[in-house]
Amino acid sequence: MTIAICPGSFDPITNGHLEVIQRAAKLFDKLIVGVYATPHKYLTFTVEERVDLIRKATSNIPNVEVQYFTGLTVEFARQVGAQVMVRGLRMTLDFEREFDMAMMNKKLYPGLELVCFMAAQQYQFLSSSLLKEVAGLDGAIDDLVPSCVAEALRKKAMGE
Ligand code: ADP
Repeated sequence: MTIAICPGSFDPITNGHLEVIQRAAKLFDKLIVGVYATPHKYLTFTVEERVDLIRKATSNIPNVEVQYFTGLTVEFARQVGAQVMVRGLRMTLDFEREFDMAMMNKKLYPGLELVCFMAAQQYQFLSSSLLKEVAGLDGAIDDLVPSCVAEALRKKAMGE
C-alpha cells in the first residue's frame, strides 16, 4: 500500500491546494494531508481551524486523511509510514524553494520520494496569503476556495 503525505501550512486551504489533493488521491492508496502546526509565518487560522476546513473540503474523497504535525516534515512522514511526499508547484513562486527543501529532505530521509504536481493553470497565481489580503478588502474570492473557507474568511473579517 502506497501512503503519501501532502504537507503544508494551509492557512487556509484554497482550490489550488484542493486540486492537487484530488489528483494525488487518485495516484496513491492513502493520502494524508499534514498540517504544519507552527510554520514560520503569521497565521490567520489556528491549527484546529485549518485541519477542520481541510476535513470539510475533502470529506468526499474517501482515501484522504487530515492530521496536524509539529517538527520535521520527514519525521511526520516516517511516523505515518509514508513513502511519498506530494507538493504543488506554481510557475514562478515555488521551484527554487521546493528544490532546496527537496535536497535537504532527501538527505534527512533518503527513502522518501518527492512527487510534485504542476498547479492547475487557473490557480497558478493563487496563494493563501494573497487570498487573505483580497478577502480582507472584501474582494470576490468565492471561486478560489471551498465554500467552508469563504464562510470562515467572512467570519474572520467580521472579527468573529
Ligand atoms: P508551505 O508553508 O509548505 O508553503 P502552503 O500551504 O503555502 O504551505 O502550500 C502547501 C503546498 O501547496 C506547497 O507545495 C505549495 O507550493 C502548494 N500550493 C500552494 N498554493 C498552490 C496552488 N495555488 N496550486 C497548487 N499548489 C499550491
